[in-house]
Amino acid sequence: MNDSPTGPADQRIAVVTGASSGIGAASARALARAGFHVVAGARRTDRVEVLAREIGGTAVTLDVTSDESVAALARQVPVCHLLVNNAGGALGTDSIAEAKLEDWQWMYDVNVLGTLRATKALLPALLASGDGQVINIGSIAAREPYPGGGGYNVAKHGVAAMTRVLRLELLGQPVRVSEIDPGMVETEFSLVRFGGDLSKADAVYAGTRPLTAVDVADTVSWVAQRPPHVNIDQILMLATDQTSAQVVHRS
Ligand code: NAP
Repeated sequence: MNDSPTGPADQRIAVVTGASSGIGAASARALARAGFHVVAGARRTDRVEVLAREIGGTAVTLDVTSDESVAALARQVPVCHLLVNNAGGALGTDSIAEAKLEDWQWMYDVNVLGTLRATKALLPALLASGDGQVINIGSIAAREPYPGGGGYNVAKHGVAAMTRVLRLELLGQPVRVSEIDPGMVETEFSLVRFGGDLSKADAVYAGTRPLTAVDVADTVSWVAQRPPHVNIDQILMLATDQTSAQVVHRS
């Protein structure tokens, strides 16, 4: 057997972007349990290195907003069976009247162009596998605009449109394309959104029971383990306590 730096030749390879935290880290763990060799990428190298040691995977310093960084990732993964485009997030909850262009730019760059950059770079490797799959982590924000959600809504609607176009363009080729749209998940997401303000971040989850990163990772792993003739196009998954973007039961 020819072993590569990413693992034994007969092991399926999964790349997870944004694997240093939350849904990405949990997905890396779930996919490793499912038998994948996981290439875990994020900007915080120390975190992905710890994770890679834990799951027997490969850590990669990755910034999905950088052409060079994504190209370096692609060079390490000549054959890839699964790409989980998870890196992303939101900044702020300003109205459009008060919108900060730099926040919108960041959200577009990481969520939309980051997903595009990683997908484009790894598509040859996904095709080379003969049974590739792309799972994009969208959001309820991709389906439902809400006041203060503008920049994030635009970005995740962009991810949803890109996912659908990719699915259409790859029809007949051996790469499946899926989108998982979670509602509220308790991760570092809100801490990032509110610029590190812990009390604002905690308030998002107060009195309610949100999804956990592990809940979403279970779904990623399930989607990834369907047989090659089954394409799960879209999943919207919400906490029982949430029925739409801003309708949440709190006790
Ligand atoms: P999180 O804990 O903040 O994780 C975000 C991840 O994205 C981190 O690992 C971060 O790693 C990575 N990331 C950010 N910018 C990056 C860049 N330029 N290059 C590479 N990686 C980058 O939040 P999360 O909830 O797990 O978010 C994961 C995905 O789920 C995001 O796409 C988010 O929009 C989506 N989502 C979250 C929720 C929610 O309520 N939490 C709901 C729906 C959808 P580094 O900072 O180390 O680079």
